[in-house]
Amino acid sequence: MDKKLGKKTPKKLHTFDLKTKEKIEELFGDADRRQKKYISWLYELATRDEKTGLYNNKFFESILGMEMEKAQRGYGELCLFIIDIDFFKKINDKYGHIKADELLKRLALVLKKQLRKSDIAARFGGEEFFILLPETNLEKAKKIISRFQASIKSDKTLKRHGITVSGGLTQHQEKDTEKSFKERADKALYKAKKTGRNRFVVVE
Ligand code: GH3
Ligand code: MG
Ligand code: MG
Repeated sequence: MDKKLGKKTPKKLHTFDLKTKEKIEELFGDADRRQKKYISWLYELATRDEKTGLYNNKFFESILGMEMEKAQRGYGELCLFIIDIDFFKKINDKYGHIKADELLKRLALVLKKQLRKSDIAARFGGEEFFILLPETNLEKAKKIISRFQASIKSDKTLKRHGITVSGGLTQHQEKDTEKSFKERADKALYKAKKTGRNRFVVVE
């Protein structure tokens, strides 16, 4: 039972909702402790982006479909961010790839700190992130923008190296396909880049 919504979530939609430990317990409850540890390790390996520790693209894609299905069936609202580091090529040129990789990881951590456990933050491409916010409407998601911006600004390491990001935000609509949902967020990101970077744009 989904307590927050007071609705019964279809069992099939539950599968990837749970945190790793609970999930392993649900799927492999009969396995012994060592087997579970091994399964957990495999699970982490399969779902994480090794550079940042966020989820990988593959995992994000599988969750996206499920969360959209939930939203379409009326089990809560759903928002999507695309975030891209500004002028990261220049950061690489100035500080080198190793330092730039550290900054990428640092940013991932800073963003993740502003999220709930149920949010899915993934590294999508080189210096791009997708963040999916289940049970979140646009108003709530807009508030997260100021938290992202404030936390990036107040992080000494990111600030010292001139890291800023641009982001696009949109809310899931009933008729959305995965493509249209992502394209709208991408359109918002494009606008943020076009209008000067270091900002977030919302496309409704
Ligand atoms: P924009 O503000 O338009 O996004 O400019 P940008 O330089 O960030 O964008 P562009 O797409 O031109 O270049 C992205 C650069 O990000 C290219 C590459 O040097 C860097 N990059 C991509 N992935 C990684 C990575 O995993 N590690 C490091 N260190 N750099 C990366
Ligand atoms: Mg990019
Ligand atoms: Mg960039």
